[in-house]
Amino acid sequence: MDDTYKYLGKRKRLVEQLRAAGITDTRVLQAIFKVPRHLFVEGVFADQAYENKALPIKEEQTISQPFTVAFQTQLLQLQPNMKVLEIGTGSGYQAAVLCEMGMRVFSVEINETLHREAKERLRRLGYQPYLLLGDGSLGWPRYQPYDGIIVTAASPKIPETLKRQLAIGGRMVVPVGDKHLQTMTVVQRLSTDRYQTETHQQFKFVPLRGKYGFG
Ligand code: SAH
Repeated sequence: MDDTYKYLGKRKRLVEQLRAAGITDTRVLQAIFKVPRHLFVEGVFADQAYENKALPIKEEQTISQPFTVAFQTQLLQLQPNMKVLEIGTGSGYQAAVLCEMGMRVFSVEINETLHREAKERLRRLGYQPYLLLGDGSLGWPRYQPYDGIIVTAASPKIPETLKRQLAIGGRMVVPVGDKHLQTMTVVQRLSTDRYQTETHQQFKFVPLRGKYGFG
């Protein structure tokens, strides 16, 4: 059954909430309206999928709160057809939002089960990101440079390896801190070796694993 257009009223209310919370990028709001989040969460949580909250996915991981997805995506300041690298595919929801916005999406996931299931889910829904099973703290050198890099897990510091995979003018959005609380950080690459950093409010993400994560 095609239930892509289920929950239309709830989706509209979610978009209004995000707007009220300061999300102004209309491409971000439209993508969140369109992507069927209820198909990215575990079945029993489908009814809560358009509430502004984080929900469990498999392997003790979580799909971020819609506000967090919207906030991080807005900070990337994307234009159609840009190349975006995501670290932490998880359910594939953030990747779907980026695809819906017309980006060329590359996403790395370290957990095999999540990688496989996200791949099947995204294909089924008609999204076509490039997906890699591996340690995303190393980035994805093959397709660099990226106009945007979005890290959807908590990083102990600004990942140097990822900075170097940014295009000049490109932006990386990464939550930086300890395992309990992180500051949303934007790094813009100004030239070959000049970067500018700005910080925003605090969030709580699951930890980034791997070589440059928490291990
Ligand atoms: N963006 C996802 C949610 C991410 S939750 C979504 O839209 O559903 C964080 C994810 O990062 C988890 O799936 C976790 O397995 C993954 N992860 C943690 N460390 C990683 C690493 N070093 N490389 C790639 N993925 C990683």
